[in-house]
Amino acid sequence: MTNTLFKIKKVNELLLKKFGLPKRAEKLPHPIDLLIATILSQNTNDNNSYKAFQNLKNKFPDWHDLLKVKRTHIEKLIRVAGLAEQKSTAIKNFIVSLYKERGKVSLDYLVNYSNEAAIENLTQFKGIGVKTASCVLLFAMNRNICPVDTHVHRTVNRIGIVSTSTPDKTFSLLNKNLPDETAHSFHTNLIRLGREVCKPKNPSCGICPLNTICNYALKNLSNKKENKKRDFMLLDNV
Ligand code: SF4
Repeated sequence: MTNTLFKIKKVNELLLKKFGLPKRAEKLPHPIDLLIATILSQNTNDNNSYKAFQNLKNKFPDWHDLLKVKRTHIEKLIRVAGLAEQKSTAIKNFIVSLYKERGKVSLDYLVNYSNEAAIENLTQFKGIGVKTASCVLLFAMNRNICPVDTHVHRTVNRIGIVSTSTPDKTFSLLNKNLPDETAHSFHTNLIRLGREVCKPKNPSCGICPLNTICNYALKNLSNKKENKKRDFMLLDNV
């Protein structure tokens, strides 16, 4: 067993003890719903991106309708999520390009793709990065793949599971070593750890379940404050 694999298993086990098994939606979300929700979630909180998603979905329950809609109309509907011009451009471009390539607005063809091929395919669309593509695979297609956002990148580097300079490098190393059926709990509990305990500034190492195995040189064991618990996780509620 590699050292990375061993550490992932240990961290997953300790986080499961602390936070429990994260809930999953009973029915897998539609991949395009999930992809659009992930674009909307960039640089904002889950509540605002959820509102923006609902505004868009209520107006256009069938994503084919976005083919005819002006980008600026999408921008108005998603304004609450911030970066509305950039996000509406990515959404409009994705829907139009997908339709041009496949003749329909559907990601069903990805069922036959490996994780690597699916990521490569989705990241061809302008505005779709590795994080968004891997969220579609984990949350909407139930693949064992761990998306890396800012919380996952920060925490796994502090703990010492990887030592990398960018989320995409972290993604590549983590996913080469991910044990089967670990991705959803590992990803979701690391985000919770990053929001509630291992915050960017002044982490609460004094109450962290990982403090005996964490390599972070600036551990703050005297900080025992936990951020208020926030159960709502957007991508499990699309
Ligand atoms: S011990 Fe501190 S730095 Fe390490 S994971 Fe826990 S909160 Fe983060």
